[in-house]
Amino acid sequence: MHLSIHPNNWSYWERKSFSREADLAIIGCGIVGLNAGIRFLENSPKAKVIILERGLSPDGASTKNAGFACFGSPGELLDDLKNAPLEEVFALFKRRYDGIFALRKRLDAEDFGWTPSGGFEIFNEANLQDFPSINQLEEINREIYKCIGIHDYFQIADEEISEHGLINLPHLIKTQHESLLNPVKMIQALIKKILFFRRKYFLWYGCYTVDRR
Ligand SMILES: Cc1cc2nc3c(=O)[nH]c(=O)nc-3n(C[C@H](O)[C@H](O)[C@H](O)COP(=O)(O)OP(=O)(O)OC[C@H]3O[C@@H](n4cnc5c(N)ncnc54)[C@H](O)[C@@H]3O)c2cc1C
Repeated sequence: MHLSIHPNNWSYWERKSFSREADLAIIGCGIVGLNAGIRFLENSPKAKVIILERGLSPDGASTKNAGFACFGSPGELLDDLKNAPLEEVFALFKRRYDGIFALRKRLDAEDFGWTPSGGFEIFNEANLQDFPSINQLEEINREIYKCIGIHDYFQIADEEISEHGLINLPHLIKTQHESLLNPVKMIQALIKKILFFRRKYFLWYGCYTVDRR
């Protein structure tokens, strides 16, 4: 494939330098695009990859998100189970877990503010009806054990409510297996990683046209 990226005001030399053959063109410099590029280059180190970003910096959800490395809370999982079969819901849970695990292997923890903070789901008057029964929580924990091998992934932690400065809260569920990360640092670390592949050709522009010939 030949990719030609040519804002109207490019000179002959800019066109000559920046128009390249690419083995893979990725649209979007978010977590998905960058990890796809890194994976491709890990398997084909001599390949040429172009990543095209419409923003002057990565401008999608990957730098704007909350930075929670979480895989589905009990309330969310129970809600998912209303619409999808059990195998599908926990297969997705495992994919999220494995995805974060892969990211942890790819990047150094300090490079993206990785903090194993644990996570909580709070149940107040507004969502009290979503609080799982003991049986439901046991079933969720059993399925999580089957897919990622961790026992008692979620625990009821009502006795900790006041410790966290929370008031008028009927229930709290905690897990030790969620973390926090800095999403901007994560994207910067992934960009640094992809630049490490010297044959890769990386571009991003606020405005461009792409011709496929
Ligand atoms: C408010 C918010 C909070 C969130 N909180 C969390 C959280 O705590 N934990 C969690 O795991 N997930 C969270 N998410 C979800 C997570 O951020 C996204 O699932 C993830 O970032 C998606 O990554 P992506 O690479 O697919 O998309 P993006 O990060 O959106 O990347 C797409 C990129 O493509 C670019 N682009 C789009 N169209 C074009 C085009 N035509 N040409 C060139 N470039 C283009 C965009 O500018 C962007 O940079 C949150 C999302 C939001 C919105």
